[in-house]
Amino acid sequence: CGIVGYIGPKPAAGFLLSGLRRLEYRGYDSSGIVTIEDGELVVEKSAGRVERLASLLKESNPQGSVGVGHTRWATHGPATDENAHPHLGGGQVLALVHNGVIENFRSLKQKLTAKGFEFHTGTDTEVVAQLVAYELDQLDADEADDLDPYAPLVAAVQAALVQLTGTYGLAIVFRDWPDAIIVARLGSPLVIGVGNGEHYIASDGSPLVGRTDRIVYLADHELAVVTANTIRVVHRDQGDVRHDVKLLDVESNEVE
Ligand code: GLU
Repeated sequence: CGIVGYIGPKPAAGFLLSGLRRLEYRGYDSSGIVTIEDGELVVEKSAGRVERLASLLKESNPQGSVGVGHTRWATHGPATDENAHPHLGGGQVLALVHNGVIENFRSLKQKLTAKGFEFHTGTDTEVVAQLVAYELDQLDADEADDLDPYAPLVAAVQAALVQLTGTYGLAIVFRDWPDAIIVARLGSPLVIGVGNGEHYIASDGSPLVGRTDRIVYLADHELAVVTANTIRVVHRDQGDVRHDVKLLDVESNEVE
């Protein structure tokens, strides 16, 4: 239902939690975040109020400076702790949050199960996590481009997205690429907020108010590689696209 993300010099959890509170008005049944700390994906998630997540975070106090978060409005799988986002893919290879519905998740789940992937939740979303992990694993290591360390992530996400039917706003972090967040959208809004040496991700403008009013709007069929200092926008099928930084319209904070 709602997505937030942060990458920059500060602990991510602060923005993620405040952003999720700002997204509460949209309605939700569960919430969660993932941060990357000491080379590990650290997931905290819970069914129920964002305040339950807040008390988990108070306890664990995650310090990672890259992370994504989610408020869930369940469409597939009941509102349980396990079904709350983020969802892991390939064991601990990546974690992602998703807004929308993956209509062909059953056939994808069958295909991935036959390849040895184990599923732990009742959501449609988990297939996206496992599918991106699978596609990343399929890439020939020799193809890795020294000039662009994120090329494998873009290739894997593109390969996964073309197999999905349905709608998505996605934000993905990868354990072994701790200085980037990959976002993608089709039919579910996503914006990138531009700060000073930091970037914010949100599914509408409300989490960004007071943080930045400089926004990059992602269009349908686009994905982006977001680091602390750079944004690269790529069309799912057509390669790199130019992006403009626009001013956030606070009056109508709903984005297209
Ligand atoms: N379809 C996904 C789920 O049920 C995402 C729902 C949402 O947009 O919050 O987990």
